Amino acid sequence: MSTLERNLRQIENIIQLKGQGKVNLIAVSKTRTTEEIRKLSNLGQRDFGENKVQELLSKVDELPKNIRWHLIGHLQRNKVKIVIPYVHLIHSVDSLKLLEEINREALKIQKVVDCLLQVFIATEETKYGLSSTELTEILNVLPQLNNVRICGLMGMASNSQDENKVRDEFRVLKGIFEEVKTRYPVIASNLTILSMGMSGDYEIAIEEGSNMIRVGSLLFGER
Ligand SMILES: *Cc1c(COP(=O)(O)O)cnc(C)c1O
Repeated sequence: MSTLERNLRQIENIIQLKGQGKVNLIAVSKTRTTEEIRKLSNLGQRDFGENKVQELLSKVDELPKNIRWHLIGHLQRNKVKIVIPYVHLIHSVDSLKLLEEINREALKIQKVVDCLLQVFIATEETKYGLSSTELTEILNVLPQLNNVRICGLMGMASNSQDENKVRDEFRVLKGIFEEVKTRYPVIASNLTILSMGMSGDYEIAIEEGSNMIRVGSLLFGER
């Protein structure tokens, strides 16, 4: 068994154990070659995550069409148009202006684009994400945006060795997720995805209710 396959099976095992199999693994393939991605794809992995638009587009062409591409990194408004035809899910909607742009471009190509709202939960200033106020603002104007579908929330915990801190941050996001479902019953049936957890903290994230994890280095090795 290759290292790649061993890594994949190990993560799948933990998903079975801790998440009763109800957690979707996104293989974060940023900086990885198309050959590495193809190998993982041949092992049955279908969902891949990229954080840069250009890199995602260059890989789409060369790889099997059944791959579902997730955009997980900050998206600039001027890149929306070129990426939305190819993207399965945008995890990183971090402003109303961005969401409006996605809606506008999606309308032009007669598509409804699936998105997650990225919520700021960490204590680090470098991380992107919506504040509670911005989140509410977006949820209130959603009825006017017919070409985007909000499927859930995404968040990144602080890059910290302190497990309790990380766990608390995930717990906050899970709380917001449940609250949004209660307060916005019209869209609640679409709100099925809670994307949280990376290589260093995905087990904690699953314990705290994540059902979509984004794992790179634990699968492919250090970048
Ligand atoms: C790079 C990245 C990941 C994966 O990071 P690893 O630590 O390699 O698992 C997950 N989410 C986002 C948004 C990323 O940019």
